[in-house]
Amino acid sequence: MSFPTNLDGLEAPLIGIRRHRLGSDGQGVTTLVGFHGCPLHCRYCFNAHCHDAARVWRRVTPEQLLQLVAADNLYFLATGGGIAFGGGEPLLYSKFIERFCTIKVPQWHITLETSLHVAREHVERLLPHVDLFFVDIKDTNPDIYHRYTQSGMGPVLDNLRWLMLQDGMADRVLVRLPHIPDYNAQDDVDRSRSMLQDMGVRQFDEFNYRIP
Ligand code: SF4
Repeated sequence: MSFPTNLDGLEAPLIGIRRHRLGSDGQGVTTLVGFHGCPLHCRYCFNAHCHDAARVWRRVTPEQLLQLVAADNLYFLATGGGIAFGGGEPLLYSKFIERFCTIKVPQWHITLETSLHVAREHVERLLPHVDLFFVDIKDTNPDIYHRYTQSGMGPVLDNLRWLMLQDGMADRVLVRLPHIPDYNAQDDVDRSRSMLQDMGVRQFDEFNYRIP
């Protein structure tokens, strides 16, 4: 592969890259790219070090990231896989990801793991580039959400509602519905599912959080 040079000076802090993932980030073999920083502080955060600036692994441009992940090009092409962006909150780096998507191999699939707790412009910017949105909704009860994340729901539901109004999103959005020990119960999860179905969400992953 030949690699483009950096044109706009975009740079992002990463907490790590995990290669050769299968079955956890959508179809095929994927490489998970984790970004530093998140607007939420979830009680059982699986990547709590994403908040710690001292734990940033390295800062890269989109072009440098392309060089880092391109070693698995043949795996991605053979399996229909690609890149999964997570974190942290990858939508905080929507311009970086947009740039990456314009220079990557076109056949690579892009998945995004997000809470949607960001300004709408970030969601709009990446809509044309993301094949599958994994939305970690936590719980749609504002009290539970606040107790668990230490933040109000803010733009989350409005962003999801907007996303579901775009063409073909029933196949491109999967909402994670966690059972969160000490925070919600089956009734709460059922209420969230019902509300989200009314918005047009058709794909759910209901599961139990493991307490770290
Ligand atoms: S949204 Fe994800 S990365 Fe952010 S604090 Fe919650 S679990 Fe951690």
